[in-house]
Amino acid sequence: MADVKELLKIIDEEKLQVDKDMVRLAFDFAQEAHQGKTRKNGEPYINHPFETAKTLARYHLDQDTIIAGLLHDVPEDTNKTLLDVRKEFGKDVANLVEGITKLGKLKYRGIERYLENLRKMFVAMASDIRVIFIKFADRLHNLKTLSALAPEKRERIARETLEIYAPIANRLGMWQLKGQLEDLSFKHLYPDEYRGLKEALEKNFSERSEVLKTMRASIQAKLKKEGMAVLEISGRTKDLWSLYQKLLKHNNEMRHVHDIIALRVVVPTVADCYRALGIIHSTWLPLPNRFKDYIAQPKPNGYQSLHTTIFCDRGKALEVQIKTPEMHQAAEYGIAAHWNYDERGSIKFDKTLDWVQELSKWREEANDSKEYLNSLKIDVFQDRIFVFTPKGDVIDLPENSTPVDFAYHIHTAIGDKASGARINNQMAALSTPLKSGDMVEIVIEKNRRGPNRDWLKFVKTRAARDKIKTKAPKGIWETITSLRAKG
Ligand code: MN
Repeated sequence: MADVKELLKIIDEEKLQVDKDMVRLAFDFAQEAHQGKTRKNGEPYINHPFETAKTLARYHLDQDTIIAGLLHDVPEDTNKTLLDVRKEFGKDVANLVEGITKLGKLKYRGIERYLENLRKMFVAMASDIRVIFIKFADRLHNLKTLSALAPEKRERIARETLEIYAPIANRLGMWQLKGQLEDLSFKHLYPDEYRGLKEALEKNFSERSEVLKTMRASIQAKLKKEGMAVLEISGRTKDLWSLYQKLLKHNNEMRHVHDIIALRVVVPTVADCYRALGIIHSTWLPLPNRFKDYIAQPKPNGYQSLHTTIFCDRGKALEVQIKTPEMHQAAEYGIAAHWNYDERGSIKFDKTLDWVQELSKWREEANDSKEYLNSLKIDVFQDRIFVFTPKGDVIDLPENSTPVDFAYHIHTAIGDKASGARINNQMAALSTPLKSGDMVEIVIEKNRRGPNRDWLKFVKTRAARDKIKTKAPKGIWETITSLRAKG
């Protein structure tokens, strides 16, 4: 039975700045509203919003979000209305609940409706990114209680999670949550593969945990002896869905996967990360070609850490991940760890969330759905690269973006007047695909009249494409064809 004390305990443990009386009030309000209702599995309904709110508190979200989590199904499923919520808990909570209620009505009915639903989701996220956090927490609990539903419904929810919500969580850097969403969906979507993989892992479980335990102690002792502060050192097992994906790439051979288990070492600074790496490599032999410097070159989704695989006792290999507390925090909570408010109390829109705004602006037009699907693929489902301006600012772009995409991302005028590019101080064509870590400088031709229509052949971002289309003069044949088409 849901007991508000459990939620208040999490709030204390995570040291959240939250008015606990308000949380208690919201809990009572929700409990009363859902009184007598049960979920498909027979549990009292209140358990669901309660678990949703607990997840939000564990992700360090703010008071309004936690309260909205408690109330998120009230207008949809009870006699209480959105207006009642607004009267009791204010405009901000009511807006969040409204955002979630609207999303709740989205149902899959053909590709067109589906895309329209996705667009609605991005509109909700663009007006307040916290809506998607509540949706994630709601979905997480629904997945945990999925067994009570009919098979088709179960499959639809699991597939939608794997195809839509997990990639969005990934894009927002919430990898821990992404892993949970994927593994719960995996279990329902491919039950045989899931069970097989779990059994295969359990076979060598005790051996693996023994390796983790001894290596954890040895590495900690070694770093201490060298005078290093170790803030945290802990073992982790690879998430099942990502292990499954990796095995598919390696002919199902478990011995080719070197990161089934890993040790995570958290040290105070970036300099400490490299120092710890040096100490570890001089004590245990590293496997060739397994060292990755994701600090200097972050993964496409922004992940940072040093990864290496070392031989430990009896020839066993173990992956070691070395990071700072900030990198660790970012990996656990993603965007939820560092969003902030402006003076009016709405979420300040971070540059890194531009893609959400872009996707929310899509208008309903005939023939447009293909293009929307394309932008979705690029903005959400494709990997990203991180490149630098000459001043050292980080710009986040889809993979294979070119200097033209970069230029339009910086400013329309820079895109319009671009005549060439220097990548890492070398002259390069405007069509050159950029790589993570590149330093990009755009060469400007002041008198240039506008973009070149040929750029459409290689640009990757929607923003660049739209601007080139509206500004570049059409070729004579295109003009004639479009005049003819109009009659
Ligand atoms: Mn719900």
